[in-house]
Amino acid sequence: MTNSSPIEISIVIPFYNEEPNIDYLFERLLTVLDSLEISYEIVCVNDGSRDNTLNHLIKHHHQNPAIKVVNLSRNFGKEIALSAGLDHAYGAAVIPIDADLQDPPELIKNLIEKWREGYDVVYATRQSRQGESWVKRLTANAFYRVMSFATPIPMPRNTGDFRLLDRRVVDALKHVPERTRFMKGLFTWVGFKQTSVMFDRTPRYKGSTKWNYWKLWNFAVGGIVSFSVRPLKIWSYVGLILSFLAFLYALVLILQTVIHGVDIPGYASVMVTVLFLGGIQLISLGIIGEYLARVYEESKGRPLYLVREKYGFKEIDETTSRERTTCV
Ligand code: UDP
Ligand code: MG
Repeated sequence: MTNSSPIEISIVIPFYNEEPNIDYLFERLLTVLDSLEISYEIVCVNDGSRDNTLNHLIKHHHQNPAIKVVNLSRNFGKEIALSAGLDHAYGAAVIPIDADLQDPPELIKNLIEKWREGYDVVYATRQSRQGESWVKRLTANAFYRVMSFATPIPMPRNTGDFRLLDRRVVDALKHVPERTRFMKGLFTWVGFKQTSVMFDRTPRYKGSTKWNYWKLWNFAVGGIVSFSVRPLKIWSYVGLILSFLAFLYALVLILQTVIHGVDIPGYASVMVTVLFLGGIQLISLGIIGEYLARVYEESKGRPLYLVREKYGFKEIDETTSRERTTCV
């Protein structure tokens, strides 16, 4: 725990079209934070919402200056909104939390307790996932399984972005310049002293999830590609095995031809082989493409996000965070 910062706890919340949740969120959050008797700030990142989220947030900022607002220039996606929030948080510990109340604010107390015991990262592990379809649960399970095969970094299961991060960890994360921000993985990658507390994930309060299966698929692919090169490497082995099998089959064919003469029928086997190998080649090319696309994205060196305006940050903060904005 560092005491150099006057703010002890920063809560970071990404908002994308969350208007109906805002009042209730702050009601519950402020009750919890006030009962803890700590100095806090709430950094709200408006991720290009199309509804009245921004005005609602500004209204809350005027009522309570501890609520600060960063308005991004457009929708950048949750992961990047979260990074923007981390960049603007100055607390000795930072807690990212979802705006839809799926992460109970009451758990913040337990997270802080563990932090005070000396842990740098305290993640909240979901004991149950209420309000999620079995398909979502099944795919989530499959994702964690593939992830644990694909990457050498153990990814804690059933954890979202709801966790407490010590300043040390936040500063470390800021030095990670990559654009593909798979936060779940990055949080683990940084290491430090980690522990977890259990909680029951409740259904979203109002509104609907911003995820669909296509987005989830892309998220999963992004996660695997940015944390593992195994998918890239397996093709040498697939190629080796296939060539070996092809060699054996060639021997069989040669022997057959020598013994029984030329065997004309074989349309089916030729077609199957050609199609199968064509498919395999396209898959391997596609996977190389996934990596190449990311190399391209990274090499462009564009800023991670752009801020349109901020509310509640002091002038001095503004210059430093603006500098940060351009170099992230
Ligand atoms: N979110 C965001 N930008 C986006 C999509 C989502 O900032 O492009 C925020 C959203 O407002 C919420 C959090 O990310 O606070 C989690 O989103 P959601 O509830 O849709 O995800 P789920 O809980 O279903 O994983
Ligand atoms: Mg949610």
